Amino acid sequence: MALIVQKFGGTSVATIERIKAVADIVIAARKQGHQVVVVLSAMAGETDRLIGLAGQVAKHPDSRELDVLLSTGEQVTIALLSMVLRDRQYPAVSYTGGQVHILTDNVHNKARIVDIEAVRVKKDLSERKIVVIAGFQGIDENGNITTLGRGGTDTTAVAMAVALNADECRIYTDVDGVYTADPRLVPEARRMDRIAYEEMLELASLGAKVLQIRSVEFANKYKVPLRVLSSFEEGPGTLITDEDEEMERALIAGIAHNRDEAKLTLLGVPDEPGIAGAILSPIAEAGIEVDMIVQNMGVDNTTDFTFTVHRNDYGKALTLLEKTARGLGAKKVLGDNRIVKISVVGVGMRSHAGIASRMFAALAGEGINIQMISTSEIKISVVVDEKYLELGIRTLHSAFGLEGDGDVTGNAAG
Ligand code: ADP
Ligand code: ASP
Ligand code: MG
Repeated sequence: MALIVQKFGGTSVATIERIKAVADIVIAARKQGHQVVVVLSAMAGETDRLIGLAGQVAKHPDSRELDVLLSTGEQVTIALLSMVLRDRQYPAVSYTGGQVHILTDNVHNKARIVDIEAVRVKKDLSERKIVVIAGFQGIDENGNITTLGRGGTDTTAVAMAVALNADECRIYTDVDGVYTADPRLVPEARRMDRIAYEEMLELASLGAKVLQIRSVEFANKYKVPLRVLSSFEEGPGTLITDEDEEMERALIAGIAHNRDEAKLTLLGVPDEPGIAGAILSPIAEAGIEVDMIVQNMGVDNTTDFTFTVHRNDYGKALTLLEKTARGLGAKKVLGDNRIVKISVVGVGMRSHAGIASRMFAALAGEGINIQMISTSEIKISVVVDEKYLELGIRTLHSAFGLEGDGDVTGNAAG
């Protein structure tokens, strides 16, 4: 007998039929003798619908009240699933995040879990109950409802698995595992049997929304075996686990993309100490996160400075930058919110030279101009015009042999 946490995302609970299908999966695990904790998302589209409602009543909805609203989506699905299970004579009980003391900090709309008091859940499990928990939500120390940011149910599931010392955390979704690229964009993408936590962390942080990044961080920190699999069809899915020998031979694990960024450039700023700080301080003070940063070589005592922010912050960042530009006597401010960031990720990069040149040559071969570059030990990201999104990913996918069983992709064959 094992203790298993099963998480089902929005598409997996989108209709009554789907919720009944989820009940089948839960019951199957139960029949195998496992203790089961289920963590659910809201029905597909529900969180967006609620955000839309909030937008109709206020230009900037109060963040505390937004959490009260958004947390209702998950409350609907946990109750419905528990009713289905009880109707089939399985003793299920549903709980909101607050009821099982998922304690978070007080940063509304993107709270972080700090503790889970799992006593109640453990007692239910010992009484052979199936425990169904609302994902994406918690409470702060003053009892206010908080939510964990989009995709946060993944994180609830892994945190629950940690708190209960579960044997495995299974993330059921609408694809049958983690692929070498988003399978909705790249039909040739291939499911991986296994991927290292570290690679999954990079892919998630660079835009692969199949797992919320915090969930992978938790899983890695506490070494929870994490498996992504389909709620629509049976299969082994993808196991996210520690790097092993076979993986070390791999070059590139996968490609991620992010359409949510925008680029801002300040032309002709004085090339002197303190300029980068002067440009970015007002941006940081406004709570805007900066991702990539590039400063050109100074010529004639002036230089150009480019950075990217989330697309939602584009307008605000542009206004701030125009003000900074006037203060610094810069020549011009440029902005572009029609860009996309494409990244190749793989632990094999540590021991192989030449990945960057191969990546750049492949893009050049298709006439794709690279606007920005950033690298780390196991990833290379480029910013290109968004019209090249699909072409760019597919070009790189084939340049690194990800669709085949080539020796450069050892880990994917598993
Ligand atoms: P859920 O509602 O179950 O949480 P999400 O929509 O959050 O599902 O995540 C699943 C989606 O992630 C898939 O439908 C797929 O389009 C996308 N995705 C992006 N990159 C990848 C990848 N490398 N492998 C698998 N899916 C990916
Ligand atoms: N319902 C939330 C969302 O749509 C949380 C989740 O599904 O993971 O982001
Ligand atoms: Mg998700």
